[in-house]
Amino acid sequence: MNSKINRRKFLSNLASGLTFFTLSNLFLLKRLNAKSKPKVLIIGSGIGGLTCLSYLNKISDAIDIIVIDKNKSIRTGPLSNLVLGGILSEEKITFTIDPKKYRNVKFVYDEVKYIDSDKKFVKVSGDVSVNFDFIILSPGIGYKENIIEGYNPNNTELLPHCWDGDSNLKKFKKQLNDLDRNSKIIISSPDYPYRCPPAPYERASLIANYLKKKKNNSKILIFDSKNSFTKQENFFKEWNLYYNNIIEWIPRKKGGRIIKYDHQNKIIKNEQGNKVKADLIHFIPDQKASNIFFDSGVLDKKNDWCEINPTTFELKGFDDIFVLGDSINAWDMPKSAFSANSQAKVLAINLINKILGRKFVDPVFLNTCYSFSKENRAFSITAWYRLNTSKDRIVSLGSSQSSINSSHIDRNQEASHAFGWFNTMVNDLFL
Ligand SMILES: Cc1cc2nc3c(=O)[nH]c(=O)nc-3n(C[C@H](O)[C@H](O)[C@H](O)COP(=O)(O)OP(=O)(O)OC[C@H]3O[C@@H](n4cnc5c(N)ncnc54)[C@H](O)[C@@H]3O)c2cc1C
Repeated sequence: MNSKINRRKFLSNLASGLTFFTLSNLFLLKRLNAKSKPKVLIIGSGIGGLTCLSYLNKISDAIDIIVIDKNKSIRTGPLSNLVLGGILSEEKITFTIDPKKYRNVKFVYDEVKYIDSDKKFVKVSGDVSVNFDFIILSPGIGYKENIIEGYNPNNTELLPHCWDGDSNLKKFKKQLNDLDRNSKIIISSPDYPYRCPPAPYERASLIANYLKKKKNNSKILIFDSKNSFTKQENFFKEWNLYYNNIIEWIPRKKGGRIIKYDHQNKIIKNEQGNKVKADLIHFIPDQKASNIFFDSGVLDKKNDWCEINPTTFELKGFDDIFVLGDSINAWDMPKSAFSANSQAKVLAINLINKILGRKFVDPVFLNTCYSFSKENRAFSITAWYRLNTSKDRIVSLGSSQSSINSSHIDRNQEASHAFGWFNTMVNDLFL
């Protein structure tokens, strides 16, 4: 009851923040920039970057906007496990930006190698540089090396992790397809924090669903670097119902943390020294902020994530560099597309406020995360957030999760909601 009232109040705050952006600031900014236009550079046209763009695009005749992404075609994380499980085709999660939607925006398809925070430019390949007044970075994640001896997360040709748009989905699907019946698969789940906390378990469910249909008597062992995980009770319920004797979860305390990998013999060794052989070993690597921050010296190697000001999303210690999405430490907020989308709206509003010298809006955020256990069965967790009283961190105000006793109709409806959320978001951003 209480949480419902909070949520309603919270959503109305969110809506009023966005109205403020579209009407008042927009009008002022157009007048202010009759002479000189601020140059806003967005790095990454994934979920966070593109959401910023969709908001800033409303005032694209008053500011210059350039977007740089190394990929022209963007593959989303959300629903990608359904592709691995053979339920959706890869086309359903692959998008290119419709340039007609962003007429005044310049798109560059190249990799950003370096950010010069003093002189305010970035270097792309071929030594070309692009300067900026304000830079927004939403480049996703990077991967920690040397966590598991013998495993290199950058070798995605050999061991595709499929945790970003670059990693080879087709290759992993082929590896699954090439398995015989009675196969043993190991999935290695990383330690926190990482992108989309429930996704390793969703992936295990949807692979189990595929194996059940195509590779009889196969088994999945989830070796987990953690002792618990989000939506655990809902996953356990689904696994009992549909994947009994197919999925076995091994928490860290029972030997779940893998420390060594022997590729030639397909054997892993855990913390306790036990060795297990499998037909396919699938690693989801431990994660950190995108390499661009370390390569540019704006993030110290002893930190894994970018520290930001939660009102403006400005990178701590730097002026006019803004970071959002999976590369930041967002305190209570998980790394998800929904979170990045919610953060981007606040960032865009407060960037305009900064340019205009106006008061910042007090941010509120939302996250809903859906997980599928099979075709047409999903469950979710929703949480809402604002800043703490000292305004230096994002804190959760409450959350609600699907009941483990949900009926088949409820699970089915949640699957429709998941598709509805996804379609609304990608239509808004890409099409
Ligand atoms: C299996 C899986 C399932 C998921 N399911 C969900 C879900 O159901 N719901 C949900 O909310 N979230 C989900 N996510 C998480 C979601 O994908 C991410 O949290 C979200 O994409 C983060 O947005 P971002 O903008 O930070 O990064 P991204 O969306 O990854 O965008 C980063 C962009 O930056 C570009 N880039 C990176 N470096 C450079 C560079 N140096 N130069 C130029 N361009 C660069 C990349 O090409 C990319 O386009 C899932 C993720 C995975 C892996």
